Amino acid sequence: MSRMYFKIISALLVVGFLFLTPGTYAGEKMQNNNSLKGKKVLYVYGGWKGHEPIESVDVFVPWLKAEGAEVTVSDNLDSYLDEELMGAVDLIIQTWTMGTITKEQEKGLLKAVRNGAGFSGWHGGIGDSFRNNTEYQFMVGGQWVAHPGGVIDYSVKITDKNDPVTKGMDDFKMHSEQYYMHIDPNVKVLATTEFTAEHSSWIDKSVMPVVWKKYYGNGRIFYSSLGHVMTDFEVTEALEIMKRGIRWAAESKYAPKEKWVSPVYK
Ligand SMILES: [Zn+2]
Repeated sequence: MSRMYFKIISALLVVGFLFLTPGTYAGEKMQNNNSLKGKKVLYVYGGWKGHEPIESVDVFVPWLKAEGAEVTVSDNLDSYLDEELMGAVDLIIQTWTMGTITKEQEKGLLKAVRNGAGFSGWHGGIGDSFRNNTEYQFMVGGQWVAHPGGVIDYSVKITDKNDPVTKGMDDFKMHSEQYYMHIDPNVKVLATTEFTAEHSSWIDKSVMPVVWKKYYGNGRIFYSSLGHVMTDFEVTEALEIMKRGIRWAAESKYAPKEKWVSPVYK
């Protein structure tokens, strides 16, 4: 190699270093702040099969493990009775549409979350579980009531561009169920969807939360209404929102409590 070439290559390396380093550092920093490494995660699946709870295990569990989480996978709500497990978990991910939960199982779940375990899920897996259990619904912050028109085309609007879960994301389209929900006014909404009159005339132009954060006691709750079937997660944004939300919810025991106020009716 000639001296000239050596100088040119050296200069290029220096320029590359200057340009690439800040980006790499920011990426690593973000990763460290939200890492699932060493986190104990309980993944509970079951309930109505139309929401593909069994199939969901293959979508999320290998990713959780790749992130470094220690995952316990369970198809039984009796896991919520296991005090040692529930006292140790950093995050519970549940996909259990409808179904029933016993008083004792519910008590075990709510206690763990109040004490700082995160709780996360999507669509009916946490947003339409255990219809008789109001305290459970109080924890989640929203309950499914309708999906006018069934599987339709609709848009999701990112309304919070600063929150790490939705930062850098653009609005996107879904071909799935558009969830109409009864919502706790104190959730921090990150994304919304607007309804049309096509299937229910009286909800024309209604704006409905799609993605939100909240607390229940010390536990972080993260919800997205996207994910009727597992192919919905082929929409990059739908899957990325869940991944980022899961990372956020797993931090309740380690990060200071976030404060936000959203006095919708003030
Ligand atoms: Zn559905």
